[in-house]
Amino acid sequence: MDARLEAIRDTVLARNPGEAEFHQAVVEVFESLGPVHDRHPELLEAAILERLCEPERQIIFRVPWTDDAGRVQINRGFRVEFNSALGPYKGGLRFHPSVYLGIVKFLGFEQIFKNALTGMPIGGGKGGSDFDPRGRSDAEVMRFCQSFMTELYRHIGEYTDVPAGDIGVGGREIGYLFGQYKRITNRYESGVLTGKGISWGGSLVRPEATGFGTVIFTQEMLKTRGTSFDGQRVVVSGSGNVAINAIAKAQSLGATVVACSDSSGYVVDEAGVDVGLLRAVKEVERGRLKDYAERRAGVSYVDGGSVWDVDATVALPCATQNELDGGAAARLVRNGLLAVGEGANMPSTRDAVAVFQDAGVLFGPGKAANAGGVATSALEMQQNASRDSWSFEHTEERLTEIMVGIHDRCAATADEYGEPGNYVLGANIGGFVKVADAMLAQGLI
Ligand code: GLU
Repeated sequence: MDARLEAIRDTVLARNPGEAEFHQAVVEVFESLGPVHDRHPELLEAAILERLCEPERQIIFRVPWTDDAGRVQINRGFRVEFNSALGPYKGGLRFHPSVYLGIVKFLGFEQIFKNALTGMPIGGGKGGSDFDPRGRSDAEVMRFCQSFMTELYRHIGEYTDVPAGDIGVGGREIGYLFGQYKRITNRYESGVLTGKGISWGGSLVRPEATGFGTVIFTQEMLKTRGTSFDGQRVVVSGSGNVAINAIAKAQSLGATVVACSDSSGYVVDEAGVDVGLLRAVKEVERGRLKDYAERRAGVSYVDGGSVWDVDATVALPCATQNELDGGAAARLVRNGLLAVGEGANMPSTRDAVAVFQDAGVLFGPGKAANAGGVATSALEMQQNASRDSWSFEHTEERLTEIMVGIHDRCAATADEYGEPGNYVLGANIGGFVKVADAMLAQGLI
């Protein structure tokens, strides 16, 4: 890495001790940015990198609630309003026991570049809580969401900060959060949250958007090698919203998705995952993949272990950060891997990314490949602002255009900087340049 950037990186890391995931995200971005700083020394003078790495605002709050047994529970809530150069802070809320400031900051930092790449007017932010929704009743989840919003409401707004879902936050949670926001503020401010239900301000295609978008991006990468999803053997990690919709889209394009996973294990379904059954088990019953295997002939369930032990020509990691390491990457590469599209945020470790890139595997980093979710959130905001709602076809067409646009921008940027096919470099520089230009234009703020 460039010595000037190395010094800034070391200062940033030292200022944020104990935040391993944030460090990883920062280091990965800095590794791409040397050539931009050679061309534009004014970026260093204006301390753009130092400013980008320091969130504009970080909110940490207590979330007290009572469980069904009447016991008081306390969780910690977060909202990191990272960068508003391009628009109101935009990014999801994650409810998962692993959530701490370092996770929220890594996600918020990635979100800045991702949102810039979409070409939509949205800044970067992220939030969440260490609350674990698993095993909690609807009533408990509702009381938790109401308490969370009782603090969060004062920090958000359609022109300020617009949260959405992420791991552990889906339509049910957005509903409870929106209801409480409306009750406290006495405003039907649809544009304050995205991922809403369709009858109360939501957008068609938003539930499908992240998974669909990941497949569209990956399909564009495959096209550069003269191929497509048709006939590919695909492994998807995860079995939540992103994974399910990635599976559905990949199979609609002629691929066979032979495996997917949850936090307990994975299933191998050589005939191709039955999306209807998977939705019933995971979305309707909120059950486990083990139940899927028990209900379908010819499916094997592996308790524990890694889904990356299953061979694939296309891998779509859609579970969580750092789920695919260097060893798994090397094994996949040895066994005929062609492409990786990240549906999750930073699912591949730095070692894994290096293995893929050294082997010439097409690699679409999450901040580009999974941007379809937030892009469709921005489309939901547009519909809310114009008090309109679009058809499925129109919205899907917009999503496809946006994903193809992101792919082409990343590819063109990689070409421009002399590294054709390097989507990591293309995404980092492409996103950074947009945000940096806006920050320079807006002065020292
Ligand atoms: N959590 C999603 C992401 O990682 C979506 C955020 C949004 O729609 O605001 O991009």
